Amino acid sequence: MPLEIQPPDYHYCPFCGSELTIRQEEGQDRKYCVQDNWTYYPHVFGSAGAIIEKDRKVLLVRRNRQPYKDTWMFPAGFIEFGEHPEETVLREVPEETGYQVYNPRFFGVYQIEDDPRARGHFLFIYRVAIVGSQNKITDQEENSAIGWFSLDNLPVIGWRVHNKILQELRSER
Ligand SMILES: [Zn+2]
Repeated sequence: MPLEIQPPDYHYCPFCGSELTIRQEEGQDRKYCVQDNWTYYPHVFGSAGAIIEKDRKVLLVRRNRQPYKDTWMFPAGFIEFGEHPEETVLREVPEETGYQVYNPRFFGVYQIEDDPRARGHFLFIYRVAIVGSQNKITDQEENSAIGWFSLDNLPVIGWRVHNKILQELRSER
C-alpha cells in the first residue's frame, strides 16, 4: 500500500477566521480570503529569494498580500514542483522587479517559522547580478512597490529571516 499523505487543508482564514472562498489564480482553483487578500498554497516546501546590490544599496519589494502585507522583503517566491531554487530566483525576480538577473551565487538557507501558508519551509537565498535596465513588471499583484535601500536606512521588514539576512549583510561590511 502506498502511503497517502495529504497536505494540511485550511477551511478558514488563519488571520481573520472567515471562511475561505475559491478563486482562479494562474489557471488553478485556490482557496482565498477576500478580506485579507490571502491565498492558501498547499504543498509548499521551499522558497527562493534574491539579494540584489547596487551602489551599496539592496533591492527590496513591498508586499501587497498577507502575511506581512505592506512590509518589505527581498524578492522571493515559492519553489514550484520540480524546480531548482536557482530557477525559482531567475523566474521570480524579473516578474516581480522587471530586472533580468544572472549568475546566482548561493548565500544561505533559512527555515521560515512565520509563514502560515507553509510553516517550517526552507528559504534558499542567492546573490544575483542584474543585467540591463528595468523592464516591465509582469507580476503586478504580488508587490505594491519596489525600491533600493541603504542598509543603514531600511524600511519596515516583515519576515524575521529577511531581517536576519539584512543584519548579516550589514555585518559583512
Ligand atoms: Zn482573512
